[in-house]
Amino acid sequence: MATAAPPLPRARVPHLDVGAGYRELRGEIDAAVARVLASGRYILGEEVEAFEAEWAAACATSHAIGVNSGLDALTLALRALGVGRGHEVVVPAHTFIATWLAVSAVGATPVAADVDGRTGNLDPAAAARSIGPRTGAVVAVHLYGRPADVAALRALGPPLIEDAAQAHLASAAGRPAGGLGRAGAFSFYPGKNLGAFGDAGAVTTDDDVLADEIRLLRNYGSRAKYAHDVPGVNSRLDPIQAAILRVKLRHLAAWNRRRAQIAARYRDGLTGLPGLTLPAPDGPDSPAWHLFVVRHARRDALAAALAADGIETLVHYPVAPHRSGAYRAAATGAMPEAEAWCRECLSLPIGPHLRDADVEAVVAAVRRCCG
Ligand SMILES: *Cc1c(COP(=O)(O)O)cnc(C)c1O
Repeated sequence: MATAAPPLPRARVPHLDVGAGYRELRGEIDAAVARVLASGRYILGEEVEAFEAEWAAACATSHAIGVNSGLDALTLALRALGVGRGHEVVVPAHTFIATWLAVSAVGATPVAADVDGRTGNLDPAAAARSIGPRTGAVVAVHLYGRPADVAALRALGPPLIEDAAQAHLASAAGRPAGGLGRAGAFSFYPGKNLGAFGDAGAVTTDDDVLADEIRLLRNYGSRAKYAHDVPGVNSRLDPIQAAILRVKLRHLAAWNRRRAQIAARYRDGLTGLPGLTLPAPDGPDSPAWHLFVVRHARRDALAAALAADGIETLVHYPVAPHRSGAYRAAATGAMPEAEAWCRECLSLPIGPHLRDADVEAVVAAVRRCCG
């Protein structure tokens, strides 16, 4: 009797298993949530204060202020610095659009500068050309978890704000992200290296005055109940999310080490494949490996071939902010490096719970597709 050839074993590798952190820590997380529910304290309070102290310590900054999202962290940092209508803010042309939206939210104008072809991070020389008399700040993104060239960017003059939404515990010259400029903005969106189970964010800074202003702004501009000193907003970190983040923070360094191990294996297994560009080497900095992003001239074909092999990939990001509907009307010059990233970048699966067998399946599939 003729038998059909057995089907090839198919890897089923998601880009990120976002629920795996909960499954690993279910007991601790359930206990932390129950503690908040039983406390009767559902807005700010000691869980938020404890997380803020722990996050500031992790980032080696004097302050961390918990807010509602990464976008709000950026927006409130800009507002507290006095950036608003009439100002320009230099932003990278290759980033998640929230970097730009924060500038728009305070009434200032985002001015795009092109990125480095090797790293995808803001190019200090391009940023320098974008600075003018109305520049209120420069926002640098530590894209994919790799620290931007903060020394060169700080030297440009305007206050440097870090968009550290992808860079939890990344470090440059031994200092963690969040403490590399005047203020750092973090997102704890579920898919980030440190993720809540909903929206959450924080601003870090060593500047006492700035920290005080952000605390004021996030809570209706109020220090004492019904005394409203400035027209603030409601952007408070939720205590349930703070309690969850406190549990997960204890595992973040180990999770980041696992990400670095996966990145090293990818580098090892994928070096030298025709047409495939791997992330630039780390140099002296320590990336958080939020994403492992390769480049290929036939990116969409590679993604389709990997999908057929059961490997899920994503594109961070397919459209540069200045090409999106939100900013199409703005006059932005050519951004050739940013646009090349948008055309060619592809994010391979990476995450602290990705198993060795899955990593090997990704390596084998990429080798097959590019070989
Ligand atoms: C995730 C992200 C943000 C926005 O964070 P939210 O918490 O979703 O508002 C901003 N900038 C970058 C680079 C991001 O990756």
